[in-house]
Amino acid sequence: MTAPNDTLGRPLKDLRISVLDRCNLRCTYCMPEESLNGRGVFLPPHHLLSDGEIEFLARVFATLGVHKLRLTGGEPLLRPGFNELVGRLSPIPGLTDLALTTNAVLLPRNAIALKTAGLTRITVSMDSLDDKVFRDMAGGRGSVQEVLDGIAAAETAGFEQLKINTVVQRDVNDHTIMDLISHFRNTGHTVRLIEFMDVGNVNHWDRNLVVPSAELLKSIHDQWPLRPVASQAASETARRYEFVDGAGEIGFISSITEPFCGDCTRARITANGVFYSCLFSAHGTELRDKIRAGMSAEEMAAEIMGLWSKRGDRYSELRNRLPRRQPHVEMYRMGG
Ligand code: SF4
Repeated sequence: MTAPNDTLGRPLKDLRISVLDRCNLRCTYCMPEESLNGRGVFLPPHHLLSDGEIEFLARVFATLGVHKLRLTGGEPLLRPGFNELVGRLSPIPGLTDLALTTNAVLLPRNAIALKTAGLTRITVSMDSLDDKVFRDMAGGRGSVQEVLDGIAAAETAGFEQLKINTVVQRDVNDHTIMDLISHFRNTGHTVRLIEFMDVGNVNHWDRNLVVPSAELLKSIHDQWPLRPVASQAASETARRYEFVDGAGEIGFISSITEPFCGDCTRARITANGVFYSCLFSAHGTELRDKIRAGMSAEEMAAEIMGLWSKRGDRYSELRNRLPRRQPHVEMYRMGG
């Protein structure tokens, strides 16, 4: 039983579950400290999906054709029992790719357990190698060394080909990108440069702060010649390039200047069990209480197929035509 395509002919293939909305950093483009107004806006524990509820949903989506599950947050490694949760999800039939997005600060104490639990891939968020720039973008928290230690721990645990996600902002960290690229060349890890996006409602997004990928591509190519690499799947978010000198790959995620909604096969579930069909959605469908009310796997599958079949999202393609910034769910809730 596979979910029907959505109204734009896109299949349901990828699921992202935010397992926690809390984080140990305060990245300015996601959860700026001032937006929290010094008060807890985070979900109380009993509002969070339990491990069993996450497993229930993952199994249902896997029966509908989802093979890639990405665990996001907030910071997923802050969730108590996260490694055990991974161990419950990795054996699910059909789920061939179980990935994690993390800021890596807590990887040194978790990497080996995650590998043993069956995690397949790790993406690390890292915006600069310059410690002052890093801390300015992370709300004065964390450090470059902590992230590098996390990456080293992942390597020691046997994870290879990490993705390094870097949000680029003009006059904030764009002047440090070449150093970051240089550092990860010949490591097997792939830096993906992400155009600053108008996610959520609190990151003071401004188009003038966006550095178009084409601009970065040119400056990198001038230093280290690049050639395009064919994508393995149309739904890949990054446009891939490899260094002609064999030093590896880099990628560009260009939601602002080169939107990729046409091939978007991603569904999202927040930490409190709300289904969203787009990163920029404002409205979702509550699933948690349906599970708690005893909804069966078959009934949940029918619910999700119904939601997906009505999907028509293509926000990034429409962004320029929209009168003003639209309200969105916060990034740390939606899980990126
Ligand atoms: S804007 Fe929405 S539909 Fe477009 S690629 Fe992003 S998540 Fe998919």
